Amino acid sequence: MMRTWRCTICGYLHEGDSPPAFCPLCHATADKFELIESVGQSRSFAGRLKEALGQMRETFAPHAVSAHFPAALIPTAVLFLVLAMVSGSRSLEFAALALQVVIVVSIPVTMLTGFFIWQKNYHKSRSVIFKKKIALAWLLLLIASAIMMWRLLAPDLLSNGGAGSAFYLLLNFFMLACVTLLGHYGGMLVSAQRKTDG
Ligand SMILES: [Zn+2]
Repeated sequence: MMRTWRCTICGYLHEGDSPPAFCPLCHATADKFELIESVGQSRSFAGRLKEALGQMRETFAPHAVSAHFPAALIPTAVLFLVLAMVSGSRSLEFAALALQVVIVVSIPVTMLTGFFIWQKNYHKSRSVIFKKKIALAWLLLLIASAIMMWRLLAPDLLSNGGAGSAFYLLLNFFMLACVTLLGHYGGMLVSAQRKTDG
């Protein structure tokens, strides 16, 4: 009888009498594999869908998913602002404002998923890297909120030019630096996790 083994690290499924020596996806060793019954036996559509959803739930990484929202939107918002500055386009400037609103909404969601994974996988470790990540996340939320509020209160902020618009652009680049560093430390944590598991 064909048996199905699942990698407990990444969820990879292997069919055979014994687990593979190394997981082809995450390089975890054979002892990280567990035998699962019945999976792969079901041939009905509903059964397969249930299996697929089950695997997705087990390997779902809410923080990695949610972190991509501010990580992708912030560079785009800053790019739109620079283009608006160069071209004088009001619609590009307004698009940047719309993105700023989504950024401010997405940061607390990302912070919350980050808090849960910090609690679950790292037992609220007080290592420097977590202190940096938490401080940077609060700083990011503060700067992003300030940028959005300032622009909402002063719609002609960018077109007015002068010191105000220069400082506003500077704040935007500061926000970009924060999210870049957060992504960098996040990447470091993920690759460290892979090394200890594999
Ligand atoms: Zn694996």
